[in-house]
Amino acid sequence: MDASRAPLVAGNWKMNPTSRQEAVELGVTVRDATTDLPVRTVVCPPFIFLEAVATAVGGGSTVAGGIGVGAQTMHAGDSGAYTGEVSAPMLAGLAQYVILGHSERRRYDNETDAAVAEKVAAAVAHELVPIAAIGERAEERRAGETEAVIERQLRAAISRLERLAGSGLVIAYEPVWAIGTGDAASGSDAQAAAAQIRALLHEADPDGAHEVPILYGGSCTPENAPEFFAQPDVDGALVGGASLDPAAFAAIVMAAAERSG
Ligand code: PEP
Repeated sequence: MDASRAPLVAGNWKMNPTSRQEAVELGVTVRDATTDLPVRTVVCPPFIFLEAVATAVGGGSTVAGGIGVGAQTMHAGDSGAYTGEVSAPMLAGLAQYVILGHSERRRYDNETDAAVAEKVAAAVAHELVPIAAIGERAEERRAGETEAVIERQLRAAISRLERLAGSGLVIAYEPVWAIGTGDAASGSDAQAAAAQIRALLHEADPDGAHEVPILYGGSCTPENAPEFFAQPDVDGALVGGASLDPAAFAAIVMAAAERSG
């Protein structure tokens, strides 16, 4: 992990928990266990609980030591006839981050590379930090297409940004076969992907590439997190299942803190 980029650990709660009270309790417990650690800690509740969680945790921080709140997706437009959607201006004051292009959105909601590109640009325009998720599916890995998929999805995700410098952009490398399966990538696989991503970012903007945190995501646990955080181009984690267990999530944040110096 490069000490010039503060580590970032984001919890993607997905469609959990089922009640506002549980969401608030989870957020507050995470905040209390991670406050003042030299890590950008982020919790991403379902839309319906964003306001309650943001209020309860006193969220709003995008710097190390504080807690930020993120949405799990958003629409690229500001408003309009898009039933069920939520836009960047609506997130103002509630969220500082937004996960975009998660593989579950790509799979179940037909989110395309072009849509992710528009959303990333819209997030930056509205001063939200986009956490753009990319990664290959199992069959693509078997076919030896991992690098090609990473390149295609990464190039698309940043294609509508004028520059990376100052954009706040975060990239999450999440091999789809590792998400929710318990079959995490190896540290060296994560590093290889992160180094490829860093090189592509550098090609796009030599002045801004070093600012972009690159996260690993996919069955990250307190046990395997130190191996990921030991990699020079891995700056943190996007955590699904383990983010619903405050002790496990806090342990991952602490592992990131230990590597941050
Ligand atoms: C995710 O969905 O972003 C994720 C990383 O999930 P999990 O940690 O459960 O594999």
